[in-house]
Amino acid sequence: MRIAITGTPGVGKTTVSKVLEKKLGVKVINITEVVKQYKLYKEKDEDMDSYVIDFEKLEEFIKQVEKNEEGVVVIEGHVSHLLNPDYTVVLRCDPEIVKERLEKRKYNRKKVLENVQAEILDVCLCESKGKVYEIDTTGRDVNDIVDEIITAIKFKKERKGVVDWMEKYFNYLSENI
Ligand code: ADP
Ligand code: MG
Repeated sequence: MRIAITGTPGVGKTTVSKVLEKKLGVKVINITEVVKQYKLYKEKDEDMDSYVIDFEKLEEFIKQVEKNEEGVVVIEGHVSHLLNPDYTVVLRCDPEIVKERLEKRKYNRKKVLENVQAEILDVCLCESKGKVYEIDTTGRDVNDIVDEIITAIKFKKERKGVVDWMEKYFNYLSENI
């Protein structure tokens, strides 16, 4: 059983996953961390200050961890939904908060903009296949979110379409024209 925790950078995947690891007692793989640590990348994209992941190497790495963990792992990262998970949790967060968090992280303007657009356009959700459970984390307590995730995993719950940032920001524009 491979569970993916995905979502746009800044939505809270790492924060939620750390608590989930303790509460669920399952090994969590932070994709960004292992890609850097074990050099599971093809090259570094200087322009975007990010790594071009070697998906074959990454898959091998995850398989190895799964063997050691008796088949159950949680993979956490904004591409985790592309790594053939059995179950995918998509975290969502208000784009304005995502923007603030990424600016705090000192991402450059282009990277902030690209990620905020991705959140508005539901990119991770649209790319997720199979069983998918979407959660709006905006203004919610981390423990609360984790409890909901545990229940969702337990009952293999499926849910899509809990947020509509497009409508929110379209209305904002309409009202200001
Ligand atoms: P991601 O791993 O998706 O990029 P992080 O887990 O690193 O996101 O979270 C980004 C920032 O947002 C961190 O500073 C974290 O403390 C904060 N954060 C994450 N989840 C919540 C939450 N539910 N409530 C308040 N702050 C949060
Ligand atoms: Mg993270």
